[in-house]
Amino acid sequence: MSKNEDKMEKIVSLAKRRGFIYQGSEIYGGLAGIYDFGPRGVELLNNIKQAWWNANVYDKENYFGIDSGMFKHPKVWEASGHIGGFSDPLAECKECNARIRVDKELAKVGVTADEKMSEEEINKLFDENRNNISCPKCGKKNFTEAKAFNLLVKSNLGDFTSDGEEPVYLPGEACQGIYLNFKNIVDTMQPKIPFGIAQIGKAFRNEISPRSFLFRTRELEQADTQYFVRPDENKEAYEKIKQDRWDWYKSIGIKEENLRWKQHENLVFYAKDAWDIEYNFPSLGFDELEGIHDRTDYDLTQHMEFSGQDLRYFDQEKNEKYIPWILETSVGLGRLFLAVISDAYHEDEMDGETRVVLKLDPKLAPIKVAVFPLLKNKPELVAKAQEVYKMIKKEIPQTSFDDNGNIGKRYRRQDEIGTPKCVTIDFDTLEDNTVTVRHRDTGEQERVVIDELISILK
Ligand SMILES: [Zn+2]
Repeated sequence: MSKNEDKMEKIVSLAKRRGFIYQGSEIYGGLAGIYDFGPRGVELLNNIKQAWWNANVYDKENYFGIDSGMFKHPKVWEASGHIGGFSDPLAECKECNARIRVDKELAKVGVTADEKMSEEEINKLFDENRNNISCPKCGKKNFTEAKAFNLLVKSNLGDFTSDGEEPVYLPGEACQGIYLNFKNIVDTMQPKIPFGIAQIGKAFRNEISPRSFLFRTRELEQADTQYFVRPDENKEAYEKIKQDRWDWYKSIGIKEENLRWKQHENLVFYAKDAWDIEYNFPSLGFDELEGIHDRTDYDLTQHMEFSGQDLRYFDQEKNEKYIPWILETSVGLGRLFLAVISDAYHEDEMDGETRVVLKLDPKLAPIKVAVFPLLKNKPELVAKAQEVYKMIKKEIPQTSFDDNGNIGKRYRRQDEIGTPKCVTIDFDTLEDNTVTVRHRDTGEQERVVIDELISILK
């Protein structure tokens, strides 16, 4: 087993053991491609989302946050191209009937197929590369054409008779809610172009083979921004957004060596330019984390056509009406969560033992401070520790109390969930009102007066 695969197994095991991620419906044997976030996981996820929201709404000028309804009019998915084109391209081996994902096989020979490509576009690439793709089962190179397998998940919302009307789908991607509210934002917020709309929302995909833990799931959450610009100002804005997103990953503690840019070689017909930020995932290597795409006026043009509504923007400065171009950023939060844990995961030596530690950026850590009484069977220590715990918790809500097992075990547990600081109350505390503050990354300890504790922890 390679070191990288080994690391994936360790992360999956840690995520379960420490209450980050559980398999969905586990007591029923699990449901493929669905995961539940446990007590530590939901805190980490919320902190990631908050960091994203801070960067993409609060720290920006002229960005508006929204949260659109998950269900959307059936026409939305026609306009977006999802009913026609949102699919995994499958081909079958004519020799042994094994099925392959054509886009994945193309990727293995260095050809990137855009996920929004039509069946025709994919088959063109497939035909050009057939000589290099052999069946993983029998080794032959005799495949059928690629056929699109639609990924949209249907619902029966509002359909009480099953009379075969167009079903209401679960969202195939979250960002459609932004396009649908473009006109509302323009009418109610009167933004001056360029401006952005940001949203975190759920999406569902009927993935044939969900895999690689949180990397490819059937239920996912996406954090998207769409930046609406004058058509002639897209280039400069695009470069700025790319830099901005790269810098954001650094700001949440992701190591730059684990990130890289990848430009799409084969663009969907409407796109002007498309880059992904890739992360060096355990067991997968570099793969897509975030897409940053110059989508031209495609999305609004489509919705204008299908809805019959005028979605042009009136530019007062130019005294001109036009369809803005869209620069999109889109990151899957499951992938981001996996990247954050993977990047923070370290094993080192401490006190003669191997320790596992998540060196999370403190703003992402699920628990910020853990408070311990040195011994759990000394009521005076426990009472003092409780008092200190309550005092800290008032200021820092993500504080936990732990008196389970010996002090060394408690440190290990907190290291594994990435708690930046631990506070221990001992017999000296009762005498001189000082406590020990222990730092996660170095294991260093310092003696601190309780009165100064809050300012030091903050
Ligand atoms: Zn075969």
